[in-house]
Order: sequence, then structure tokens, then C-alpha cells
Amino acid sequence: MIKAVRGFKDILPGESEKWAYLENLARKFFLSYGFREIRLPILEKTELFARSLGEATDIVEKEMYTFIDRQKESLTLRPEATAGICRAVIENGLYAQGKILKLFTIGPMFRHERPQRGRLRQFHQLNAEVFGSNAPGTDAELIALALDILDAGGARGLRLEINSLGCPVCRPAFREALKKFLTGLREKLCEDCQRRVERNPLRVLDCKRQECQSLYVDAPRLEDFLCPACKEHYLSVLKDLETLNITYVKNPRLVRGLDYYVRTTFEIKAPDLGAQDTVAAGGRYDGLVKALGGPDIPGVGFAIGLERFLLIAELPEDLSPPLDLFVAALGEEARRLVLPLVRNLRRHGLMVDLDHEGRSLKAQLKQANRLRARFALIIGEKELQEGKVLLRDMTTGAQEPLAQAELESALLKRLLA
Ligand code: ATP
Ligand code: MG
Repeated sequence: MIKAVRGFKDILPGESEKWAYLENLARKFFLSYGFREIRLPILEKTELFARSLGEATDIVEKEMYTFIDRQKESLTLRPEATAGICRAVIENGLYAQGKILKLFTIGPMFRHERPQRGRLRQFHQLNAEVFGSNAPGTDAELIALALDILDAGGARGLRLEINSLGCPVCRPAFREALKKFLTGLREKLCEDCQRRVERNPLRVLDCKRQECQSLYVDAPRLEDFLCPACKEHYLSVLKDLETLNITYVKNPRLVRGLDYYVRTTFEIKAPDLGAQDTVAAGGRYDGLVKALGGPDIPGVGFAIGLERFLLIAELPEDLSPPLDLFVAALGEEARRLVLPLVRNLRRHGLMVDLDHEGRSLKAQLKQANRLRARFALIIGEKELQEGKVLLRDMTTGAQEPLAQAELESALLKRLLA
């Protein structure tokens, strides 16, 4: 038997309703916050990710699904959405000077990581990005949006962690200070961090190993190095959050895995998730669009991981609604009689099903029960001859005869009530 690829999961009926529920909920919030949907290819040129994420990131170094296609071009299954959205914004000229562009997208991402709870190789994200706004209010609004979506999905006990990564003006000094701090610790660091010290020292702060993290407790803090403009920006974001009654925790060691982040960076954590506790993450990437060959427009956004969201979501009990009506037609003549009726009722939005297999009445009523039908319509030979049908209330068992003439309107009246 051929099995699915490791880390790639089927989303089966029973689960898929939950996915649809959360996606619809997110969609509503995106629209109410003024975002419009963009749908992107899942395949991009490898160079796009190498350029935008940075060569010395976990994703580019070891997590991408990259292959050479038949034209000998290197292509990559997208590991995240922001790079593709930036590419599309530039390529399609979506940006006009002075215009704010708010985009969202929902879909799968691919990273070759070790699969475990809350970590897959194909996973799914809800993404929101805003282009053209430098204003700290935009950052706070995005954080509010992410929290509102998670909250509406029933996620509780969330913890918002926030930091500012500074900008190309102030970050170099921090980088140097951090490098200096790290040289003393060199031997004690994990292999990955040792490499990071040279190539991308900020990234050590993102190391997943507790041993490393405990060494970084006394590391220099980004906040102490922020230039006045970055400092003011950061304080304004925090002030907006306070105005919105959003609780936050400043985390001076919060850096994002991706190189292009500047200033605001944040993560939303859910303690119930265990080791993979970050359900959403985001931040500002002001230089990215320009670095990809576009105009110099700022950007800020976030991604919510849908698998992790599902693990902490509180969903309504029954997401697959019961059937409105099961039509039990006995015999071919009866079945033919109800075919157009069933179709018309469905076209009115009612959930209706029927049996094409010629099963017995008993079997059909059993099927109706299994589908949790509110009503069953019974039409056998006797009913055919008498020009009527029986409408059975499946909860009470009460049966009511209905005339075959005007049957559709009689049913609509009862079922739509
Ligand atoms: P982590 O530290 O958990 O590896 P990350 O920093 O790589 O996360 P981001 O690139 O910021 O993650 O992605 C944003 C969100 O997407 C994460 O907070 C998480 O909810 C989700 N996510 C990332 N990688 C995976 C994965 N392999 N499986 C499931 N969800 C994921
Ligand atoms: Mg990761």
C-alpha cells in the first residue's frame, strides 16, 4: 500500500469541518479589518526565498523543499507566504504611492522539519500583510487582528510577547555588542549557535536549546540600542496596545527566524501547546520589498499556524449540521418521482439526501437516522397509488400524510420554518 509522505497529513471529514470553521472565521475578521484576499502559487523560484529570508536562516539552510525542474530551474515549495506576497505586489504593481495595501491569504506551507505535535512538513497558515504604512498603529492593529481571530476561535490563555529589532541604523551596534558577548561563550554554545556567531549572531537568541538560552540571559538587550526613531516607534506600538487593552510581555530576546524583520516583532504563545507553543508570529519587514526589486515601501504582517490554532481552539459541538430531509423512495417509479423534488429542495439550500440503491424501508430509515435527518419522506407503492406521501418526524416518530400535488411547497413551508 502506498502511504502519504511523512509529515504530510490528510484532513478527513470530521476534521475538515473544523478547518472550514476556523478559515471562515478568520476570513470574516480579515474582511472586517479591511483586508482583501490574494491567492498565490505554492511554487516559486528558489532565489525568491534565498534572497528574502536570508541565506543563514534555518529555513533556507535546511528546511526548504527545493528541486530542479525539467527546464533545469531551481524551484521551491513555499516555506512561508510573505516572500511570495511581496513578489506578487511588485510583479503586479499592486502598490501605488501613498496607498495602504492590506492583503490576506490562507494556505499550505512546506518545511522539511522533524514532524511532531504542532509541527508538520506541510502545514497551513493564515497570513495578513500590510504594505505602505510606517505607522506604529498599523503594527498594533495587526496584533489586535491576530488576537481577535484566535480569541473568536476559543483560544484562551494566550501570551503576547513583543520586541523591537531596531533598524539598519541601530542594529549594527547591537550586533557587535552581542558578538563580543558571545565570543566569551564560544565553547559552551551548540554547533548551530557557533556557526551563527559568525554568520548571523542575532539568530543565536532564537536557538531552541535550553542550554543555549540559559547562557543568553545576560546578553545585551536590543532595547538598549534602539535609535530614537525606533524607540519612539516601539513605544507607540506599546501605547496603542495599552489603549486597546491588550496585555503584552516585552521579550528582549525575541528575534524572528527571518532576516528581513525590523522594528516590531511579536509572537503569540499558547501554554497549552507544549513545546511548539507559538501559534502566531509576525513583525515588520520595511526593507524587503525594495530588496526584492520593488519600490521602497514598508511592510508588516503576521502568520497564524492553523494546525496549532486547531489544537487550542474551542469549537462549537456540532460542526456538521444534521440533514433536513431524507427521502426514502421505495421502488424505481417512486425514485424517479422524487428526483426533481430532491434537486429543487437542495437548490433552496436544504440538506437533502436519498437512496439510489433500492434498499428496504428499514435500511433507508436507518440511513436517515445515521445522517441525523430531521424528517424522512416515505413514498412506496401504496403511497404512489394513493397520490400521497408520508412525512415522518424523525424525533417524535409522528407521520403526516401529504398530497403529492403541491408537495414541494408543502415541504418548503415545513422545512424552512
Ligand atoms: P518555530 O519556532 O515553531 O519553528 P517559526 O519561527 O519557524 O516557528 P514562523 O516562520 O514564524 O515559525 O511561522 C509562523 C507560524 O507558523 C508559527 O508560529 C507556527 O504556528 C506555524 N508553523 C511554522 N512552522 C510550522 C510547522 N513546521 N508545522 C506547523 N506549524 C508551523
Ligand atoms: Mg521553524
